[in-house]
Amino acid sequence: MRLITFSKDGVNRIGVLDGGEACDVTAVDPDIPRSMIDFLEAGERGFEAARAAIATAPRFDVATVELRAPVAPRKLLALGINYREHIAEMQALMPAFVFPDTQVWFNKQVTSVTGPFDPIHKPKVSDLLDYEGELAIVIGKRCRHVSEAEAASVIAGYTICNDVSVRDWQMATPTQTMGKSFDTHAPLGPAIVTSDEVGDPQDLRVRVWVNGEARQDFSTSDMVFSCFKQIEHLSKAFTLEPGDVITTGTSVGNGVLRVPPVLLKAGDLVRVEIDRIGAIENRVVDEPETALFQR
Ligand code: MG
Repeated sequence: MRLITFSKDGVNRIGVLDGGEACDVTAVDPDIPRSMIDFLEAGERGFEAARAAIATAPRFDVATVELRAPVAPRKLLALGINYREHIAEMQALMPAFVFPDTQVWFNKQVTSVTGPFDPIHKPKVSDLLDYEGELAIVIGKRCRHVSEAEAASVIAGYTICNDVSVRDWQMATPTQTMGKSFDTHAPLGPAIVTSDEVGDPQDLRVRVWVNGEARQDFSTSDMVFSCFKQIEHLSKAFTLEPGDVITTGTSVGNGVLRVPPVLLKAGDLVRVEIDRIGAIENRVVDEPETALFQR
């Protein structure tokens, strides 16, 4: 199932994407929650109700609705340097850099989340704006101390994240938090594709284009720490909750590591596509004078 959050006539609700149409399952069954977190909290009961409602749900051409980020997560966790090819790329440029042998986690603030086709703001305070195409996991069950072998059972599905990064702010402090968390710097979507439709998360091709030019092309098979190992590690420390998003790292081809570097500027169009999940596309715009964040 492809779960979306969409807006029609100014009202946000969850729905199911079916053959290019947004199915408004909440219009058929008022017991289906309108928010994705509430829907995921309901567990299998919610999925069954949504499945049953698809056949009779009002349908809208997806081009006529506004797709929002599929979930407004309570946590947005991001893993750094998790691809072998990316590590080799960085080692070639920075031979003195010592690569850690543990998982390197940072937070993106949840206010950085934006829709799959919404603009990315080029900050007033930096010219070093960059993209990172990434596979993202969406948690489906509240859990703690989940083993690698059990991890699949707590995943609701997968989506796409562009881990947009402000390189000078990212590198200014060890936590990376501010440089990874500017408003609009976590486009998510277009849907949460349930695990049964995605299949093996370690066998997905991730591609990024800027203005139609190929910039990233890698496979999730090259991850150092698999999706399941990431959940095992994170859940040793804290509870993962339905709707939490875990973005699993990027690989080669970021703008800052190109020779010479090529950073994003206003007007650029960034597309991130992942096999069996879909694509997101975001236009870079200068940060507005009054940057009200609207949902
Ligand atoms: Mg990243």
